[in-house]
Amino acid sequence: MNPPPKRISMEGLDLLCARRSAGAPMPAYVGPLRRHVAEGDRRLLRLEYDASPAALRLWSFLLTEEERLHAAHAAGAKIVGAMKDLGTVPVMAYALPNVVAFYPDGAWWTPCVMELSDGLFCIAQSLGFGESFCPVRAMLGAFVNRAHFPIPDILICSAGAVCDDFSAIAQRVESLGHPILWWEMPHRRRPEPDEPAVELPGGFSAPASQAAFVRSELERVRAALEGLAGAPLGDAELAAGIAEANRVRRLLADLRRLAYTAEACPMPALEMLIAEMLAIHFCSDRAESIRVLADLLEEVRRRVKEKVGIVAKDAARVFWVNPVADLRVMNLLEDSGGRLAGTEFLFSHALDPIPEDLPPMEALARMALADPMAGPSADRAARIVRDARAFGAEAVLVSRIPGASHCALEGAVIARVVREELAIPVVEIEVPPVADPMMPTLRSQLEALVETVQERRKR
Ligand code: SF4
Repeated sequence: MNPPPKRISMEGLDLLCARRSAGAPMPAYVGPLRRHVAEGDRRLLRLEYDASPAALRLWSFLLTEEERLHAAHAAGAKIVGAMKDLGTVPVMAYALPNVVAFYPDGAWWTPCVMELSDGLFCIAQSLGFGESFCPVRAMLGAFVNRAHFPIPDILICSAGAVCDDFSAIAQRVESLGHPILWWEMPHRRRPEPDEPAVELPGGFSAPASQAAFVRSELERVRAALEGLAGAPLGDAELAAGIAEANRVRRLLADLRRLAYTAEACPMPALEMLIAEMLAIHFCSDRAESIRVLADLLEEVRRRVKEKVGIVAKDAARVFWVNPVADLRVMNLLEDSGGRLAGTEFLFSHALDPIPEDLPPMEALARMALADPMAGPSADRAARIVRDARAFGAEAVLVSRIPGASHCALEGAVIARVVREELAIPVVEIEVPPVADPMMPTLRSQLEALVETVQERRKR
């Protein structure tokens, strides 16, 4: 039996990379993380990583995304900047040949990864978007300084039932000379008792009229993508694209089920966050994202079979709500005696399988409507309760995002519903993009949560 895996420093992961370089061939993008530090990604020095080739591949894949996008652009591929919907438009875009889609929203993490040396928040501030806005304001800076992603050939953004922060910032992007194709997402409501309704992926339902409306909006997106690619995006192509997206989602479903339910936690929280993010736009390479996730799943399966974990078996089982602006805080969970037992990172609709027994546009419309941010907070809380119960979570942690318009009250709604339904402890923390000054406080909050779980076990 192999020794239990431990988290390692970046130097440790780079050593593992050097050893692998001498052995079996690796994809060309896999390499030492220090090359990214040299480019300014200084936060990498402060993180701890899973000690596996699969994790090395995952990190290399994530950190080479901008290179990949620039190379695709230079090679003549059409670049789609999908904005806000988190999971729908890329499924359509990747169904076309020679089209690559990504989310400029991903600049959300750049100030963290570059420890604020990127200057993106300063640019956003100069354009009127200061600290009262969510970290997604970094996207504005990236459109201005053009030092990160290539400017997309088309921008497609959902409007309507989306957060105020994103609407305002995307409008400002457009005002800077980047035209946007807006498509409307209605606020999802529960169907009236006698109203025709449809079931959505993930278990919600919605009026059939809302699904029909979203379908008509996505038809406009389909026409725009066809115009961009100069190729038809028929139902057959869409169905094939949905099937490929579902391969990613199935891999993630297996990975999450094993990682969040195994007695010995087989994969750190940080790598699970990165893995889940691949569902949104496949990190700009759908085929490779499948291979990266398959590798990670194989590693997790092996550890589960051998009953080895990355933390003690009695670690408190914590369900995590919302992504953290500072990735280092994911390490803190395990440092405090906890482990992940489920997540809701704002994009559960990008994880649920897309129905393959419906006409493709209807299936995509229903998936888009299932977005947890498009409906009432009570729906989101109900989903969190259901998933936390299924994963056997012993506590729920709500990670507030500074400035995020939905975070001011939503955490309280989620906490109340979780306490009523599950009677388990809930804690709210707030995590800025570089949380170093707050680490002692955050650690105390996490340790207190873990202690509460341990006390409850004695009852
Ligand atoms: S984190 Fe929240 S406020 Fe920020 S863009 Fe996403 S949904 Fe909007």
